[in-house]
Amino acid sequence: MGKNLYHKVFDRHSVGRLSSGQYQLFIGLHLIHEVTSPQAFSLLKQRGLKVRFPERTFATVDHIIPTETRERQRPLRDSLAEEMLVAIEENTKANGISFFGEESGNQGVVHIIGPELGLTQPGQTIACGDSHTSTHGAFGSLAFGIGTSQVADILATQTMSMSKLKVRRINVTGKLRPGLYAKDVILAIINKLGVNGGVGYAYEYSGPVIEAFSMEERMTLCNMSIEGGARIGYVNPDETTFAYLKGRKHSPKGADWDKALAYWKSIASDPDAGYDDVVELDGSALEPFVTWGITPGQSLTVTQSIPAAETFPADEQPLIREAMEYMSLEAGQPIAGIPIDVVFIGSCTNGRLSDFQEVARLVKGRKVSPRVKALVVPGSREVQRQAEALGLKEIFVEAGFQWREPGCSMCLAMNPDKLEGRQMCASTSNRNFKGRQGSSSGRTLLMSPAMAAAAAIEGKVADSRVVFGYAKETV
Ligand code: SF4
Repeated sequence: MGKNLYHKVFDRHSVGRLSSGQYQLFIGLHLIHEVTSPQAFSLLKQRGLKVRFPERTFATVDHIIPTETRERQRPLRDSLAEEMLVAIEENTKANGISFFGEESGNQGVVHIIGPELGLTQPGQTIACGDSHTSTHGAFGSLAFGIGTSQVADILATQTMSMSKLKVRRINVTGKLRPGLYAKDVILAIINKLGVNGGVGYAYEYSGPVIEAFSMEERMTLCNMSIEGGARIGYVNPDETTFAYLKGRKHSPKGADWDKALAYWKSIASDPDAGYDDVVELDGSALEPFVTWGITPGQSLTVTQSIPAAETFPADEQPLIREAMEYMSLEAGQPIAGIPIDVVFIGSCTNGRLSDFQEVARLVKGRKVSPRVKALVVPGSREVQRQAEALGLKEIFVEAGFQWREPGCSMCLAMNPDKLEGRQMCASTSNRNFKGRQGSSSGRTLLMSPAMAAAAAIEGKVADSRVVFGYAKETV
């Protein structure tokens, strides 16, 4: 029997077996940001250790950075944010680490700049002190979100300890209908398997729908693997992957490219590879998904109504009731029509150029509802540059959206972009936990950029296929 990508890459990077039975895994690429790295550098200092491989470590600032130009002036108005920014500037300088800060022209959300700079490559082991590091699995890498103490471990040793995962292959068959996106596919997978369904697993995404996805769509998909409980998610590298990487700043060049290509092709799962589990999802049957609750698994299609708690297994009912109460929703209420106060289009899930191209195409010539505050936040300076060169900024501004500077913005709201009070937000990000967007009572509905655009125009949850006039027979 052949091997799957997970085992090939894991075995190649395993440099030791610990007495606990865990493996010591060499980490090829370590991405750091301002929130989870200061404490790790302090730990290193306390122990008199140096960064083992500064050339394999890359830093950016994303979570705390304001997205309004006037608020980006130094020092930042928020003294804690300024402290974190100063810490990463000083720590990277002192340790010879590349820092993609404001002056670099490449600042952005860590999971957006890694791929766009060509740092993220197939067959790598990648770690970052952020849950959504799974994004990088889109390239056929094993990409782990880690905690602060592990950030310190990797800074000091370039390795981390871990047990082997099981591998579940998720095969998405058929062809997505118009108005359906990678976001709908991952929300459907989480809905089907549950937010804990992936615990102990790596998810390998495969099938015609995934193969037809662009790299940006694959990143959206892998980004939310963690929301389904999986430790990592990945897609086998193919011609789409190689074409994306060719010519990027940190991609291999010349003879190194040929060598890398041979390696990248060799680590894809063998046709006769074995899996611990295989799940099928019919992509042709999908409809736009929206979350209604306080976990990314509490979701339904835009044509459905809030389910009654009694329709869930007894052990899930308390959480369903808690979600309904927090969200102020009632069983039987259609999800379409729920009033929206704020729309956030951005984040490491859906803050890439293709997301903005699609939304701009849809909203061109339309107006954001007067009841809605709508933010479009590029995931990186490069995304912003490209979008502006294509004239997308003008389309958004004309439609009534705010066009912001790159950063995490309202995804986690560790910056001035926050919900207020009970505001209901249609968000293209990845988490709808209680208080996630900066208000302890704020409410988040996760959806695709097209669905968020429809919510912005209508001022309520609406079927983007109807709002934007996709072929009627597809609705
Ligand atoms: S956009 Fe959101 S999920 Fe992604 S890195 Fe920033 S805060 Fe984390």
